[in-house]
Amino acid sequence: MAELLFRDDAYLRSCEATVVAVDERGIRLDRTVFYPLGGGQPGDTGTLKRADGSVIAIADARKGDGLDDVLHVPAPGAALPPVGEKVTAEIDWERRHRLMRMHTCLHLLCAVVPGAVTGGQISDGKARLDFDVPGEALDKAVITDKLNALITADHAVTPRWITDEELAAQPDLVRTMSVKPPTGFGKVRLLDIAGIDLQPCGGTHIRRTSEIGRVEVTKIENKGRQNRRVNLAFAG
Ligand SMILES: [Zn+2]
Repeated sequence: MAELLFRDDAYLRSCEATVVAVDERGIRLDRTVFYPLGGGQPGDTGTLKRADGSVIAIADARKGDGLDDVLHVPAPGAALPPVGEKVTAEIDWERRHRLMRMHTCLHLLCAVVPGAVTGGQISDGKARLDFDVPGEALDKAVITDKLNALITADHAVTPRWITDEELAAQPDLVRTMSVKPPTGFGKVRLLDIAGIDLQPCGGTHIRRTSEIGRVEVTKIENKGRQNRRVNLAFAG
């Protein structure tokens, strides 16, 4: 179990940590700033800096066996640190920040497009969400304009926690049919964009919508009778 520092501060770029386990799956630390692949958001890349100044390249971060277990996956051929070694864990911030901007934009897209979310994927510079909107025609230009209006309006983006009981009493909060939020741990993390979108989410987000920058809907695809795939990218 690691202390997941990105949960409380998504802007942390690095932290001191101690190696607690190393195996063929990856390196485990007692605390980390690396977000592991999940909820459609890719795992962080970056480095572990060793006491002697040398650097271990981290090619990916994955969830391990428990909710708070993060595997730092070293690049092929990288040296492995012994258990107990102190390292500085640092993420590739430029990439993570782009992922945070795009991830937060998907929350806005949920507010703009009606219908349940049936799938989604974020990658560097672009993202997509699938919606169950039977028979409905979605307009690229209209969605683009609505998104950019919400972005420009500079709404606050706030993570907070609620209890499992509070979530059970508000089933409408769960927009994603494909990924149910993890319950049974007593509390669930919510992402709140005041008055626009509120839903369980464990990902990393920026603080205000203006930080997303201009985006555009690049393509809307029909994926089955009820599925509309909305593809987004940063504009310009
Ligand atoms: Zn989110």
